[in-house]
Amino acid sequence: MSNPASNSTTAPPSKKRKESTDSIPVPEFTQLDYVNLTSHTDAFGVDPIPISWGHPDPLVRGPVICTVRHSSQRNAIGAHSGSYCIYTGLAVAAGKLNPDYVPNLKLTSPVFNIGPHKSWSDPKKISSIDPFGHLITNVYGGYLDKGFDIRPTIAVTKAHIDLPETREAVALGRLVPDGKILLESGQSIVSKAAIEPVWYLPEIARRFGCTESVLRQSIFRMTNGMYPELITRPDIKIFLPPIGGLTIYIWGDPDTIPDEDIELTCRVHDECNGSDVFGSDICTCRPYLTHAIEECIKTAQRGGAGIVIYYRKEGRSLGEVTKYLVYNTRKRQEGGDSAENYFACTEKVAGVQDTRFQALMPDPLHFLGVTKIHNFISMSDMKYNAIVSTGIEIVNRVEIPKELVPDDAQVEITAKVFHGYNAGKAYQGIDEKELKKTVGREYDYDGKANGEKKDTNVIE
Ligand SMILES: [Zn+2]
Repeated sequence: MSNPASNSTTAPPSKKRKESTDSIPVPEFTQLDYVNLTSHTDAFGVDPIPISWGHPDPLVRGPVICTVRHSSQRNAIGAHSGSYCIYTGLAVAAGKLNPDYVPNLKLTSPVFNIGPHKSWSDPKKISSIDPFGHLITNVYGGYLDKGFDIRPTIAVTKAHIDLPETREAVALGRLVPDGKILLESGQSIVSKAAIEPVWYLPEIARRFGCTESVLRQSIFRMTNGMYPELITRPDIKIFLPPIGGLTIYIWGDPDTIPDEDIELTCRVHDECNGSDVFGSDICTCRPYLTHAIEECIKTAQRGGAGIVIYYRKEGRSLGEVTKYLVYNTRKRQEGGDSAENYFACTEKVAGVQDTRFQALMPDPLHFLGVTKIHNFISMSDMKYNAIVSTGIEIVNRVEIPKELVPDDAQVEITAKVFHGYNAGKAYQGIDEKELKKTVGREYDYDGKANGEKKDTNVIE
């Protein structure tokens, strides 16, 4: 039985703001026209605003300060907007952006409510996003009034979305427009939130089974020393990494999400630009995504809610260049693309099969107050196990209908099922024989079919 109230703190954080505004320090401003090397131990943060990660009161927790304007009070390593921070640098270099500009956040606040939830104060549930990231103008209004430049790391809005697969489902009678969640035109109405990562390093390290110093050293080393403070400032525990964020799409009333008695459908999807946007048929990504959206719409029409979380983790977080190199290896290898060698090819090229590591993935579910998922639309046991291990119950796993899997994607799904993924009844019992005979399309990249062997290193 559910008790949604138990997952919410009693007082909204805004009520606590006024009481302790006096304790907010006066901002110190950094002169932005000279270069400040962060490799020196005293370069910044002589008096960082304290952060008490996981504290339910946002003022005690403290605002994440990671803009360039308050270097002595900054309490986070990195920069806002993930990898897009480099474009900010370009804009300033090109004279298009005044580095002193402070954003006008007046009309930017969320258009629907998320939280607060009990999970917000549990680092084991949230340590890769700032649960107050959408409430900056509300809970840290006192800081903004005093002149601090604090940026939201979450933005919450609404949209109409229009997908050919949804229109087709309407035409075939699988979906019925109701004028509220699904319009006659085939458009559906969503609430959505964009989230950029904010990492609390001690807990990130715990989830990856290493010490915090090993984590800091490893990121420092593998980024060619991009973030010296990872080494020089072990007291600064927050890191805004230069990686892609995520987007939450919600069908139905977001307020029902924490209520365990109300049906909830969910898919956590990792970006695959080639399939998701351009319809490449080598994998099941877009069919899975649009199938999940269809199930989310149906759930919302039954009075529940549907969630799709879209992670920017292209090519299993190895990136699209690595992914295409793997595609070429798969198609070119002896015997052509086969389910049998599907995972081995990625490992051959990248040295590792997958760097998505789902350990941080459930955080946005806890941000929304999810404690029970009735329908989970994914064949990945890694995702299933990661979610369940953080205390969220999953009732049913919904399989992708076989007719939605493109021919060339049989290689991917067969290999995944053979290696323990769960694609439901339609793909049960895949044995070694089945694995060996599942092959993909041939491209004849090197002209072998015509008896000629092109030198692939020659650019034509
Ligand atoms: Zn894909």
